[in-house]
Amino acid sequence: MPLVNPLPILKKARQQKLAIAAFNIHNLETMQAVVEGAVEEMAPVIIQTTPGTLEHAGIPFISAMAKAAAEEYRIPIILHLDHCSSFAIAVKCIRYGYTSVMIDGSALPYQDNIKLVAEVVKVAQAAGIAVEGELGRIGGTEDDITVDEREAAMTVPGEALDFVQRTGIDTLAVAIGTAHGLYKGEPLLDFDRLAQIKELVDIPLVLHGASGVPDDSIIRSINRGICKVNIATELKIPLAEAIKNSFKVNPAEDDPRNYLGAGREEVKKVVKRKIRLTGASKLLKR
Ligand SMILES: [Zn+2]
Repeated sequence: MPLVNPLPILKKARQQKLAIAAFNIHNLETMQAVVEGAVEEMAPVIIQTTPGTLEHAGIPFISAMAKAAAEEYRIPIILHLDHCSSFAIAVKCIRYGYTSVMIDGSALPYQDNIKLVAEVVKVAQAAGIAVEGELGRIGGTEDDITVDEREAAMTVPGEALDFVQRTGIDTLAVAIGTAHGLYKGEPLLDFDRLAQIKELVDIPLVLHGASGVPDDSIIRSINRGICKVNIATELKIPLAEAIKNSFKVNPAEDDPRNYLGAGREEVKKVVKRKIRLTGASKLLKR
């Protein structure tokens, strides 16, 4: 089937207190690991790329690979643009067949954030594409954006309602104490804040920086309205470790199929474990 809009699946996830996992990919092998892992788990899956990855790999290549994956397998596959702060890049991705885009205006003053997001919503909804917005600031480093601890700010529930109403977004990324990259200590999530946001806002919520968050905290988040769980760092590490290990075992290794293949297998293991954690397989059952 073609790439799909995630919204019907995310709405079902909200009703059933389940979530769909979204994985940041960087090349063919990581995309294969995500898709093959999802196929083996019989679950819908979100493949996502940051603008930095698109600069590295090129939008046409990423979108062609994702479309090929969607045609090849019988699970719903979504191609999502992660943390894009550019209207032009978001529109370009929509033109190339992305079925979901995140427009991240969280660095802007509140009114400017609303304006940018509403503009993307207008274009995306006309094309049948879902839009994710972010309110509050998620700490850490994602792609080329770094938000230090002092700048990170939690999502204010009342403001979230206003933001959703005025932008018309389909999903909302919330800042509740997670951060991008590696955690120094155990992350403390504000579950009460999350529950309050869910009470006020009736769209699916998104958890960023989920790498390194303990499983029970992920499950508690899903029970409180998180319908999309983003995983990036936890795939990068096994990929790098497997490649390093290939060269340790055989310093003369020069066949990319061997070291990238080894990386792909390790990434796939994490993908499958995360998909099981979200319960996404149940979303394909009637
Ligand atoms: Zn993020």
